[in-house]
Amino acid sequence: MPTTDPVCGMQFRIEKAAGKAEYQGKTYYFCTEVCKRHFEEDPERYLKAKTAR
Ligand SMILES: [Zn+2]
Repeated sequence: MPTTDPVCGMQFRIEKAAGKAEYQGKTYYFCTEVCKRHFEEDPERYLKAKTAR
């Protein structure tokens, strides 16, 4: 099952994810620990960017 990293926009399979985080009842997957850390520092920034259009 493919998923998209909300931080860098990369698509990959969930089983390849380096980390995951839950935010507002949804689970997000990340390609690296670095992306995960960025998301946890400011999740709104990455989620707003996605829904701005
Ligand atoms: Zn990433």
